[in-house]
Amino acid sequence: MALIVKKFGGSSVATTEKIMNIAKRVLGEKKPGDKIVLVVSAMGDTTDDLIELAEGITKNPYQYTREMDMLLTTGEQQSASLMAMAFKTLGQDAVSLTGPMAGVQTNDVYTKGRIKDIQPERVHKELDAGKVVVITGFQGANSLGDYVTLGRGGSDTSAVAIAGALKADSCEIFTDVDGVYSADPRIVKGARKMREITYHEMLEMARLGAGVMQPRSVEMGEYFGIPIHVRSTFTTDIGTFIREDYTMEDKDFVIRGVAHDEKVAKIAVLGIPNTPGIAHEIFSALADANIDVDMIVQSIRNIEKNVTDMVFTVAAGDLAQAKKVVDGVADKLSAVAVLIEEDVAKVSIVGAGMLGNPGTAARMFGALSQKGINIDIISTSEISISCLVKGSVLKEAVNAIHDEFFPKN
Ligand code: ADP
Ligand code: ASP
Ligand code: MG
Repeated sequence: MALIVKKFGGSSVATTEKIMNIAKRVLGEKKPGDKIVLVVSAMGDTTDDLIELAEGITKNPYQYTREMDMLLTTGEQQSASLMAMAFKTLGQDAVSLTGPMAGVQTNDVYTKGRIKDIQPERVHKELDAGKVVVITGFQGANSLGDYVTLGRGGSDTSAVAIAGALKADSCEIFTDVDGVYSADPRIVKGARKMREITYHEMLEMARLGAGVMQPRSVEMGEYFGIPIHVRSTFTTDIGTFIREDYTMEDKDFVIRGVAHDEKVAKIAVLGIPNTPGIAHEIFSALADANIDVDMIVQSIRNIEKNVTDMVFTVAAGDLAQAKKVVDGVADKLSAVAVLIEEDVAKVSIVGAGMLGNPGTAARMFGALSQKGINIDIISTSEISISCLVKGSVLKEAVNAIHDEFFPKN
């Protein structure tokens, strides 16, 4: 007897036929006495479609974050109720619950919420009554009882957090790929499937753009010590286990994977006085607006005049708001100009093995230079190296770097 949480992503529940197939498969694999919780995403591109709908009202609907959350949460409600009905038609009692009904409590940051706590009594009650429980991913409620969504891809985080709160025996993330690969298999044909990856490395891959898991979900997995099994909705193959440490694979690799992120934008604040407090001024204003800043470079523009440039990247979705905030600060600092570049992308290598391999960065830069690809900004962490390149050469950059570290046999 086991308590199992299974999450199904948007492409997995894209049609009613797919929803029926999932219900059949889940029942087929269910052992007597097993307690099953499903966490579902919105059907197919529903979330994108809802955003587009809002764009019919205003160019920048994300200025109305609370209303966006009211709208976006409806996507997951459709798939959850349909999924519960699918089980019922197969003779299995089931119930759909919204995030708040399942006890998911968030902070107050609409559209970028974080789960603060989960009180899963209702879920336990329904499971004890013999029902399959279907919970809407991507959402919870704040202290006012308002819906708050968890950022794009947030159903992963809902699933892992709910698994943690229920003390589930396993957490499976069903998606349209059969595991985590050494690069996005849509971009790199020869990408290799991993049998395992550590939380630490997966978190870094996810943070740097590997969209197969939302970064916060990996943090949750580590926090609760729950191994996460990423696998295909459409096959029964074993996928990739995200866990604390490797159990079977050779640990002797330099990098684990190449991640990329197209959804970035560059902001340059040019010609500001090189005095203490400048960086604080700019970045605290962005932080107050809940905007994450990623790569940062401060460079000298004019030594005699003690003038500097501050260049950094933000998520493309935050650009409009970030520009507004930065324009305000730039005025105060008498900056010469604020420039925006949208045709940029980030390519990164990730792996704990690079710690003991000093030539790793040089190999990455060499692979890019051989293709004549210019690097705009470089940033590093303990287990990753990232380069900002032109968006138009991203695919070539990812493949060149992958070929360097994972040569084709
Ligand atoms: P879901 O709707 O199931 O949540 P997502 O589209 O969010 O699915 O995530 C799955 C997608 O993640 C894959 O189709 C793949 O293109 C992309 N992806 C990016 N990097 C990787 C990677 N390293 N390994 C596997 N998939 C990746
Ligand atoms: N439906 C939401 C999104 O598209 C959440 C998810 O799918 O994980 O981002
Ligand atoms: Mg996803």
